[in-house]
Amino acid sequence: MTASDPNCIFCKIVAGQIPSKKVHEDDQMLAFHDINPWAPVHVLVIPKQHIATLSDVGPEHDALLGAMLGLAPRLMKQLGVSNGFRTLINTGRDGHQEVYHLHMHVMGGPRPWARG
Ligand code: 5GP
Ligand code: ZN
Repeated sequence: MTASDPNCIFCKIVAGQIPSKKVHEDDQMLAFHDINPWAPVHVLVIPKQHIATLSDVGPEHDALLGAMLGLAPRLMKQLGVSNGFRTLINTGRDGHQEVYHLHMHVMGGPRPWARG
């Protein structure tokens, strides 16, 4: 099922070619700690399949997107975040997206945060 882009850094993380601190993996998603965290807990939830941006999804991705969002509260609980968290998907140039493989930021932990 997995379409991957050989030049994509997150596809390389999915393939294990670049190391990451994984916090969740199943057949369709991977979650790992952001290398440059804004918050005490900052993870990225990505599809294993290469989808460049949220603008590229269609109705066939509804279940995947639901699974990504539904994973967020379970991950935060697992990582000890008990007082709320932020979810964020940057999309495209004006959305300040830097890595063009769909990802959802999930950030939590006690404030102050480095950013956000
Ligand atoms: P964007 O601005 O595209 O929404 O965010 C991309 C995020 O990916 C940034 O928060 C950045 O720190 C993170 N990131 C970029 N390269 C790597 C990497 O190689 N490993 C990990 N764990 N995070 C990365
Ligand atoms: Zn990719």
